[in-house]
Amino acid sequence: MRTISVKAPAKINLTLDVLGKRTDGYHEVEMVMTTVDLSDRLELTVLDTDEIRIQSEHAYVPNDHRNLAYRAAELLRKRFNIKQGVEIVLDKQIPVAAGLAGGSSDAAATLRGMNELFDLGLSLEELAELGAAVGSDVSFCVMGGTAIARGRGEQLETIPSPPPCYVVLAKPKIGVSTADVYRAVEMEKIVHPNTEAMVTAIRDRDFDGICSHLGNALEAVTLELHPEVRQIKETMLHCGADGVLMSGSGPTVFALIEHEQKAHRVYNGLKGFCPEVFVVRILGKKH
Ligand code: ATP
Repeated sequence: MRTISVKAPAKINLTLDVLGKRTDGYHEVEMVMTTVDLSDRLELTVLDTDEIRIQSEHAYVPNDHRNLAYRAAELLRKRFNIKQGVEIVLDKQIPVAAGLAGGSSDAAATLRGMNELFDLGLSLEELAELGAAVGSDVSFCVMGGTAIARGRGEQLETIPSPPPCYVVLAKPKIGVSTADVYRAVEMEKIVHPNTEAMVTAIRDRDFDGICSHLGNALEAVTLELHPEVRQIKETMLHCGADGVLMSGSGPTVFALIEHEQKAHRVYNGLKGFCPEVFVVRILGKKH
């Protein structure tokens, strides 16, 4: 029986800009995303039957075709005429419906894992292209590292990773539907982040510049729906965070912090208040 284990890391948005609404229903976006070392773990096993089996103990994660890992497996089986099935055991560590691309990263890990398990010989770029059919963030999750994502998120330009720092992630009890947040976007009210300035700060390894150019056009929309997100931001700043922002469509808020001691102060300041709080690092290299 062939089994492999694959890591599926979360992402955060250093910027997220909404440029307009497209005729296909998606929004045109421009985002700087980076991978952090908070990961789900997937165990993939080849089955003799032709089924795709998902196993997860998480109450909010579907075990059927609605799971993005299932869709990724189905896509590869159909496209490459794979006769055998696969069992995917999901050990969820990334908070669900959190703005951290947990489901997309599981789909990306499934693509990478099945590529190896079934000797498909596809490059990461080819897998990223296939992944776009499963979800807009899947392409980025296949590649990992740091990138500017455009289009609906699937057009990637890899850039260097930010200088090492600590990232505190805090997710309030609520989950947020990405579709609901995009539906509530009013284009004329959008506050656009300065993506170019963020990319320059990253290339210059200018930590203060990165912190001052954090910006997310969806933040105001989610804050309106869920005021507790603002409270987390304020607590993080009060505890000494260098920069704070909501990731993706939320509700997870992250803090960037240069010094370890301060990172633990921010962590301790939020622990009693948020059910899910983590201190992680930016993953500088491809996984
Ligand atoms: P993004 O940042 O890409 O918008 P997210 O972090 O906000 O993603 P996910 O954790 O990916 O959101 O989950 C969103 C919904 O997708 C969940 O409510 C869940 O029902 C469904 N889902 C499907 N597959 C998965 C998976 N493998 N892990 C978690 N949720 C999944």
